[in-house]
Amino acid sequence: MSARPLLNRRLAGLGTTIFAEMSALANATGSINLGQGFPDTDGPREIAQAAADAILAGKGNQYPPGPGVPELRSAIAEHQQRWYGLEFDPDSEVLVTAGATEAIAATMLALLEPGDEVIAFEPFYDSYAATIAMAGATRVPLTLRAPGFRPDLDELRTLITPRTRLLLINTPHNPTGLVLHPDELRAIAELACEHDLLVVTDEVYEHLVFSGGHHPIAALPGMRERTVSISSSGKTFSFTGWKVGWVTAAAPLVAAVRTAKQYLTFVSAGPFQYAVADALRLPDEYFDGFRADLRRKRDLLSEGLTAAGFQVFEPEGTYFITTDITPLGEKDGLEFCRSLPARCGVVAIPNVVFYDNADAGRSHVRFTFCKGDDVLAEAVTRLQRL
Ligand code: PMP
Ligand code: GLN
Repeated sequence: MSARPLLNRRLAGLGTTIFAEMSALANATGSINLGQGFPDTDGPREIAQAAADAILAGKGNQYPPGPGVPELRSAIAEHQQRWYGLEFDPDSEVLVTAGATEAIAATMLALLEPGDEVIAFEPFYDSYAATIAMAGATRVPLTLRAPGFRPDLDELRTLITPRTRLLLINTPHNPTGLVLHPDELRAIAELACEHDLLVVTDEVYEHLVFSGGHHPIAALPGMRERTVSISSSGKTFSFTGWKVGWVTAAAPLVAAVRTAKQYLTFVSAGPFQYAVADALRLPDEYFDGFRADLRRKRDLLSEGLTAAGFQVFEPEGTYFITTDITPLGEKDGLEFCRSLPARCGVVAIPNVVFYDNADAGRSHVRFTFCKGDDVLAEAVTRLQRL
């Protein structure tokens, strides 16, 4: 074999995702896993039943249509209309993907040329850096700084260059829990229009905003034709393993993303697509109950982490809490998370891996609260031993 590395240079350094590393550590040590964001109870029973029924009825067991089954595309369009007043044509403006993850990858591969710049908030969700790299483009971070993590929009303006092709935003934001406010979204939209940029918005936590509501940037003036909106059923319906996600955008953007998507998976999750169509049509009580439940869990974990000595940055959305470990006499979040299972049987995520400017997040650690109350209480008891 030649000395040339097997992994191409675009992917060099990406290694194993922090979520896989930390979940493996949780399993190996029998620790409570407040790392990777997945709930410890499944979503609504009737939705699981709908998936089982679809399999037994032979719905989606063979390749469904590439863009997604019509029932789900209609349900996605209805959902955008019902919650945000946004109109999308189910045939040309909606695309079903293998989770938001594939939607993000297909979008980057479709819209970027090598050398293009993508401005994204850091800390970044890990697949952003990877898929921008796969497309041969360059990420340009706008650092969100503690304690508020609000984006500095004057700084955003200074980051735009003639090579900037798109702005990648994420609201509610993983891992900080930041929710972009309407005035911030307006300012971002104005910059996008002024500089003729595309906007990709990851809204997988759209139903986990604890006050003030979720505001999609696609609804703002001038944005419809330049925005790719991405979401997923994983978080909202607590079926993260089904991997049913989607894109909504103007027809030319969907056509571009669909072109890439065809050669990534072509299609996925046939029978689950029917079940997710039912889930999207659940009554308001489901969505309200889900949010209220997670808000209560947020408060539970937030109080416990504060009592255990962490500095807690209260999230406005998502099911994650970012903390600072400095008050515990600790500096390095990665070291802290790697030693935490042995020290007290809890697993968390070091935010530093989501940064280019590591100093901004070195002492930050993320905990998820999408777990049973008893699990959260036990985790807090263990963390208080630190
Ligand atoms: N974006 C963000 C911000 C996430 O936290 C996640 C994790 N679920 C994803 C995308 C990926 O979603 P999916 O599981 O639907 O691929
Ligand atoms: N979105 C989940 C999180 O942030 C993880 C998904 C994954 O493992 N890729 O924890």
